[in-house]
Amino acid sequence: MSPLPTDLEIAQQTPLKPIDDIAQRAGIAPEHLEHYGRHVAKVSLDAIKAKADQPAANYVLITAITPTPLGEGKTTTAVGLAQGLELLGKKTMLALRQPSMGPVFGIKGGAAGGGYSQVLPMESLNLHLTGDFHAVTAAHNLLAAMLDNHIYQGNALDIDPQRVSWRRVLDMNDRALRNVVVGLGAPEDGVPRQSGFDITAASEVMVILALATDLRDLRGRLGRIVVGYTHAGQPVTAEDLKAAGAMAVILKDALKPNLLQTTEHSPALIHAGPFGNIATGNSSVVADLLGSRCAEYLLTEAGFGSDMGGERFFNVKCRVSGLTPDAAVLVVTVRALKAHSGRYRIVAGKPLPAELLAENPDDVRAGADNLRKHIEIVRGFGVAPVVAINAFPSDHASEHAVIREIAEGLGARVAVSTHVAEGGKGALALAEAVMAACQDPTQFCPTYDLGDDLKTKLDKVARKVYGADRIELSSAARKQLKGFEALGYGQFPVVIAKTHLSLSSDPKRRGAPTGWTLPVRELRVAAGAGYVYAICGDMRTMPALGAHPSAEKIDLDEQGRVVGLF
Ligand code: ADP
Ligand code: MG
Repeated sequence: MSPLPTDLEIAQQTPLKPIDDIAQRAGIAPEHLEHYGRHVAKVSLDAIKAKADQPAANYVLITAITPTPLGEGKTTTAVGLAQGLELLGKKTMLALRQPSMGPVFGIKGGAAGGGYSQVLPMESLNLHLTGDFHAVTAAHNLLAAMLDNHIYQGNALDIDPQRVSWRRVLDMNDRALRNVVVGLGAPEDGVPRQSGFDITAASEVMVILALATDLRDLRGRLGRIVVGYTHAGQPVTAEDLKAAGAMAVILKDALKPNLLQTTEHSPALIHAGPFGNIATGNSSVVADLLGSRCAEYLLTEAGFGSDMGGERFFNVKCRVSGLTPDAAVLVVTVRALKAHSGRYRIVAGKPLPAELLAENPDDVRAGADNLRKHIEIVRGFGVAPVVAINAFPSDHASEHAVIREIAEGLGARVAVSTHVAEGGKGALALAEAVMAACQDPTQFCPTYDLGDDLKTKLDKVARKVYGADRIELSSAARKQLKGFEALGYGQFPVVIAKTHLSLSSDPKRRGAPTGWTLPVRELRVAAGAGYVYAICGDMRTMPALGAHPSAEKIDLDEQGRVVGLF
C-alpha cells in the first residue's frame, strides 16, 4: 500500500465547495448564514426556530475505548461515518468541537480528522476559525480584570483575595504562566495576589458556551459564575461584579455555530471546545439543536473514552439539550487494545514500539477487557453500541477478527472502517451498522437522578461507570461537599476529573481495573456551567510545549500556503 499523503496535503488538494452549497444541502436558509470567507459561515440561532417543525435526526454519539495518548480516531471515524452515510443516500450533520489552538503548536497537531476523513478548511479549523476561542478568552479575562479592579477600588463586596478562584486564560501552551503574581508594582498597579493562567479550553466560559441553549440562557449562566468567596464565606458571582452583561456582549457571535464541510462536502458544525478533563469535553448544545433539524443523522463526538466525555454527554449534555441518543459508536483500535494488555507503553510524540506493530492477536485479546467494559458502559445508558474498528495500515486481519469475535460475543454490532485511507466508501459497513442500531429501541437512562445528593452521584458514576468499588473523599472534599449543598449546588450534575488514560484514577492501570477506590481530593463548583466537579488526581489546566514543539515546523511556503501543520 502506498503511503497516504499528509492530512495537510489532502486538505489542500481537495477542492472546496462554496459554503452556501453546503448550507443548502443542510436546508439552512441563506438569510441565516453569516459568511466568514467563502468556505466558513456562522449560522444564526434563528435557524433553530425556523426549522423547529422538521423531524429530529437520529442522534449518534461517537465515543471510544480508553485511548492511548495518541487518540484512537473518534474524530476521523465521525467524519468517515458521516461520509459513509451520505454515500448510502442519508442526510447527515456532524457536530464537533473546535480544536484548541495551543496544542496545535505542541505535539498533538491538528484535530480536524485525518486522511480522507477531515473537516475543511483544516488550516482555519485548527487556527482561529471565526474567533470564538478569542471571544471566550476576552470574556473570561474581562471578568478577571473587573474582579481585580473591584478589589483595588475598595472591595465593596469584601472579596477575600486568598479565596479568588477565577484565574486568567490564554489559548496557548505556556508553562511559564501556570503560576503568576498579579498586581505587582506601584500601589496604583493593583493589589498583589497569586494567581495563574489556564488554557482557554479549560475556561468555565467555554463550557457555558457549549451548554447554553440560547442567548438568554448564556447570559444567565455567565451571571452565575462564582469567582471566589467573601471573608464571610459567601460566593461572589459575575453578576455581583456587574460583569456578565458585557461578557455576553463579547460572546454573542461566538454562540452561533460554525458551518464547514468534510472532504466529501457533507456539512459539519464546529462549535465550542471545552476541555475533556475538568470540563464536559463535548461540542455545543446549540449546534446539536440545530443539527438535529437539518439531517436524518446527527453525529457528535465526546472527548476521550466512554467513561469520560461519553459519561458527561449522557449525564450532563443530554440533560441540558433534551435530546436523547439513538446509538453510540465505540471506536477501538488494535494499538490501544495491545496497549491495554499491559505489555507496551505508548508515549505521545514518540514512534510506536516495533513489537507492538507485529501481528499478534493474542495481545489484542489480552487487552480486550477494556473493550468489554466500554460496551457495558454504553449499554448502561440504555443505548446500543456499535463497535467501530478504526483500521490502521499496520493492523492485521487476525487482530481485527479477535475484536469482531469479542464484540459479537457480547451481541454488539461491529464493523471495520477504513475511512482514513478511503473516505466514506471505507465506512459503508459502519454506516449500515449504525443505521441498524438506530432502529433498536433505546431506553435512555442517565446514571443518577439530579435529586440524588452529590456524594451519591459521584458514587454512582464511580461504581456503575468506572467499575470502582467505592469512592473516598478527602477531609477537604467532605467539607466542600457540605458547603456546596448548603449553598444549593447539590442539585447539579457532577463531572469527575480523573485521568482519561485508564478507566481507574491511576493512568498506569490498563484494561478494566477492579478492586480499586476513587480518591476525591477536592470539589469545585462551576455554577455558571451548572455542575460540581471532583478532582481525582493531578489535573493540568495549562499544557506546556515539549523540547521540539510542532510550531518549529509550521511555516508559510513561497505561495503563502501553510506548511508543517498536521
Ligand atoms: P480522537 O478524536 O479520538 O482523539 P483523532 O480522530 O483525532 O482521534 O485521531 C488521532 C490521531 O490518529 C490523528 O492524528 C489521526 O489523524 C490519526 N488517525 C486516526 N485514525 C487513523 C487511521 N485509521 N489511520 C491512520 N491515522 C489515524
Ligand atoms: Mg477528537
